[in-house]
Amino acid sequence: MPKVCKQRSNLPVRVTALPPLPVRAVLLFDIDGVIRDVAASYRRAIVETVQQFSGWRPEPAQIDALKSEGCWNNDWEASLELLRRHRQSSARAELPSFESVVAAFCDHYFGGDPEGDPALWCGFIRQEPLLVGPEFFTGLSAADILWGFVSGAEPPSVRYVLQRRLGLQDPPFIAMGDAPDKPDPTGLLRLAEALLAARGTNLGPDAPAVAYVGDTVADVQTVLRAREQMPAQRFLSLAVSPPHLHGPGQQEQRRAYEQQLQAAGADRILTSSDQAAAALQALLG
Ligand SMILES: [Mg+2]
Repeated sequence: MPKVCKQRSNLPVRVTALPPLPVRAVLLFDIDGVIRDVAASYRRAIVETVQQFSGWRPEPAQIDALKSEGCWNNDWEASLELLRRHRQSSARAELPSFESVVAAFCDHYFGGDPEGDPALWCGFIRQEPLLVGPEFFTGLSAADILWGFVSGAEPPSVRYVLQRRLGLQDPPFIAMGDAPDKPDPTGLLRLAEALLAARGTNLGPDAPAVAYVGDTVADVQTVLRAREQMPAQRFLSLAVSPPHLHGPGQQEQRRAYEQQLQAAGADRILTSSDQAAAALQALLG
């Protein structure tokens, strides 16, 4: 039987206190499509899960179209929604339970116990190219930029990519179950507050800018909602189209996708995640 991924209850963000050095900005990152390429993992798990229950394999453009609606950041819910829409268009009667979809998805993605030893996993998670290296974060720290991650991925998956793949020591992150799903800005605000508090300062009109790098409309909307909640604080949205749109023959789709990010309110479109620091510095002037 496949294991069902468990969500955590809300936990306080753990951030190591640091000396009160100058802080130029806070730069937070989405993970999937920004730090790692999930075309052959999460996106493939969506496809395989949908096929398992319906026999239909959604195309990448159909997943992009769903994601562009801004409210399907959770891939379990996205899988079920694709099944629901397919069922409506094909007049199929059966719709699986959410729990069945989650179990099937996790079996494809982890291929083992998500809470167990990652060395024993044999699922798609093992096929995730990294989009930045550990030196990228060393560079941010050297530029007095505080950094962290706000992701809707499961905690075992987040720990796997940040600690095991990138080798980051005790990285600050918010994962699934730590805060409401994006575009709710609670996770973004909580992590930014925790990072600044560790430096002896708070969010507000005198605080450094807080920027978020994401690859979906929901990520952009998360920043807009943070602004609504805290108008005196400067928030910036940096957006990048996911790697599967950067291949040959994808120029049209990529341009359309980036226009959606821009229309949603992104302050800057990046051509790759490692441009985030330069784009942020340019916006700060
Ligand atoms: Mg993403």
